Amino acid sequence: MSRNLDAAPSSQAAVRALGLGEETLRLLEQVDEMGPSFAERAFRYDADASFPFENYDDLRAAGFLKLCVPKRHGGLGADYRSYMLVSQRLGFWCGTTANTFNMHVANSLWTSDLVDGLDLLRRQREEHEARRALHYRRMVAGALYAQPFSEASSAAAGVSPFGTTAKPVDGGFVLEGRKIFASLSGAADYYGVLCTEAKSRKKASRRDTMFVAVPATAEGLTIVGDWDPLGMRGTVSRTLVLKNVFVPDDGQLMPRGIYVQAAMRWPHMFMTLAATYLGVMQAAYEFTLRYLRGEIPGMPVKRRMYPTKQIAVAEMLVKLELAWAIFLRAVAEAKLDPSEDERARALACQFTVMEHCNEVCRLAIRTCGGQSMLKSLPLERYYRDSRCGSLMLPWTAEICMDRLGRGALYRPGETDA
Ligand SMILES: Cc1cc2nc3c(=O)[nH]c(=O)nc-3n(C[C@H](O)[C@H](O)[C@H](O)COP(=O)(O)OP(=O)(O)OC[C@H]3O[C@@H](n4cnc5c(N)ncnc54)[C@H](O)[C@@H]3O)c2cc1C
Repeated sequence: MSRNLDAAPSSQAAVRALGLGEETLRLLEQVDEMGPSFAERAFRYDADASFPFENYDDLRAAGFLKLCVPKRHGGLGADYRSYMLVSQRLGFWCGTTANTFNMHVANSLWTSDLVDGLDLLRRQREEHEARRALHYRRMVAGALYAQPFSEASSAAAGVSPFGTTAKPVDGGFVLEGRKIFASLSGAADYYGVLCTEAKSRKKASRRDTMFVAVPATAEGLTIVGDWDPLGMRGTVSRTLVLKNVFVPDDGQLMPRGIYVQAAMRWPHMFMTLAATYLGVMQAAYEFTLRYLRGEIPGMPVKRRMYPTKQIAVAEMLVKLELAWAIFLRAVAEAKLDPSEDERARALACQFTVMEHCNEVCRLAIRTCGGQSMLKSLPLERYYRDSRCGSLMLPWTAEICMDRLGRGALYRPGETDA
C-alpha cells in the first residue's frame, strides 16, 4: 500500500519501525482493500447514527473478528503492535468502525499473552485457559464482543470499584448494574462487562474486579436510552441495564481479581484507542492536501498557492509527525512492567494523539474553508469524531495530564504535609 500523498509514514515504514513483518503488512493491505467501501458507507452510518453492520460483515468475512485470537486457538494471532497498526488504518477509513472494533478486540487482546505474563496460581491459569478457549471459539466463529466498563462514576477512571456487581451463585454469577456508553449496543453478541465481585460483609474493592462476558440474549439485560451524539455516531453507545442477569462460570474473561494486576502492570492496554484517532488525524490531513490541490471531485479549484494555506498544512504535518513519532515509540515500549518513563510516555502518547487529532481537524476546516464542511464531504465528520478521543476513559486527556504532572512532581508516596 502506498500513501500517495507522502504523509508520514508508509505502512511499510510503520511495520518496519515496530519490528513487524509480512503478516502485518498483509493485514494492512486487507484493511486498505475493505477501506474504500467503509469510507463510502461512513456518511450513512453517521447521518443515521446507526451501527456499521455491513463493515462488520466484511471484517468477519476477512477473518478480522479473530484478529487477536492466538493462532493455537484458530485466530490470526496478531499481537498488540500489529493490532495498533491495523486499528490506525481502520480509523483512517472509518473512525466509527475502528472505535467499535477496538472494543471487540480488547476481549481477546486483554485475555491472551497479556494475562499469560501476570502472576497467576496454577489453578487460575488452567481455568483461564479453558474459559478463554470458549470465548476464542466464539470469536473464530464470527461472534462480536463489546466492552462496556463506563458507569457515570469514578470507576472507569480507575479510582473506585465498579458499581456493577457480580454475586457468586451456584454455577456462576448474578449481575446487577448499569453501563453507560456501551459501544456496539444492540450489535454485539456478548458484552465484556467489568464489575465487582459482591462479597458478603466486605466493602467493595477494586481488587475484586471481574471481567465477564454477558450474552446479548441473557434474561434481564436491556438496552435503554437514545443515541444522538456529536461524533462517532455509528458506535451506537447506548446504556445497558443488568437486572438479575445470570452468567455461568465460563463467562469469565479473566480470572477473578486479575484485572487490577493487568491494569497496573500492563498500562498500554488502555492506549489502544490512540491508534484509532491517529487514523482519523491522518485522514483529515490527507483530505486537506487533496482539497487544496483541487483533487476532490466537484472541488476543482486549487488553493495551495496561498502562503497561509501552506503554513496551516505545515502546522498540521508537524502535529501529525509528532503524533506518529510518539505513537511508534510508545507502541514499541508496550510490555509487562514498563519503566516509569515508559508509563509516562504512554500517557503522553494518548494525550498527544487525541488532542492533535482534534487540532488537525480544526485547522483542516479553517484552511479548506466553508465548502469543505458540507455534509457531502467527510471533513466535518472527522472534526466531530476527533473530539471524542479525549473523552475516552480511563485515559481521558485530562486524566493523562493530571497523572503526568503529578508523576513528574511527586515521588511515589511523597506528600507536602
Ligand atoms: C463515542 C464514544 C464511545 C464510547 N464507547 C465506550 C465503550 O464502548 N465502553 C465504555 O466503557 N465506555 C465507552 N465510552 C465512554 C467513555 O470511555 C467515558 O466513560 C465517557 O466519555 C465518560 O463520560 P462522563 O461524562 O461520564 O465523564 P466523567 O467521568 O463525568 O468525567 C468528565 C471529565 O472529567 C475528567 N475526569 C474524570 N475523572 C477524573 C479523575 N479521576 N481525575 C481527573 N479528571 C477526571 C475527565 O477528563 C472526563 O472527561 C464511549 C464514549 C464515547 C464518546
